[in-house]
Amino acid sequence: MVKCSFCGQEIPKGTGKMLIKNDGKILYFCSRKCEKNMIELKRNPKKVKWTEEYRKWKKNQITKQTIKN
Ligand SMILES: [Zn+2]
Repeated sequence: MVKCSFCGQEIPKGTGKMLIKNDGKILYFCSRKCEKNMIELKRNPKKVKWTEEYRKWKKNQITKQTIKN
């Protein structure tokens, strides 16, 4: 099962989209929404609240803060 390159959600077979960039990097998108955010809006998944990346990043930040305190 592949995961969406933007939001990190698993993409069921037969759905989603695969995009091969000029540099050979393969990106998977579960929806047009993710594709648009990554390609057209060039957003960083870490800065978009509904992505798995953001949740991971936020969790990391919290852990780091806890250690500091
Ligand atoms: Zn997605």
